[in-house]
Amino acid sequence: MAKCRSCGAEILFVPLPSGNSMPCNPELVQFWANPNAKGKVVMQTGEIVSCDFDGPLEEMTDVGYISHFATCPFANSHRKKRKP
Ligand SMILES: [Zn+2]
Repeated sequence: MAKCRSCGAEILFVPLPSGNSMPCNPELVQFWANPNAKGKVVMQTGEIVSCDFDGPLEEMTDVGYISHFATCPFANSHRKKRKP
């Protein structure tokens, strides 16, 4: 598995429909889709959905991955980097 160059955490590259891939935390999390929520999750299909991360279990939308940038303690250094 790939590792984050900043913090060393294991990351999973989830392929997106655009052809890019999103570095995500390897753990699947439960989410509740909500267009007004601030949270974002990447579904196993690569679709990115606004969502909450808690709610009634019987209304859970699906499970997905959280972008590693959302939790990386060194996220700021990611943002400064540019792809060659
Ligand atoms: Zn990291």
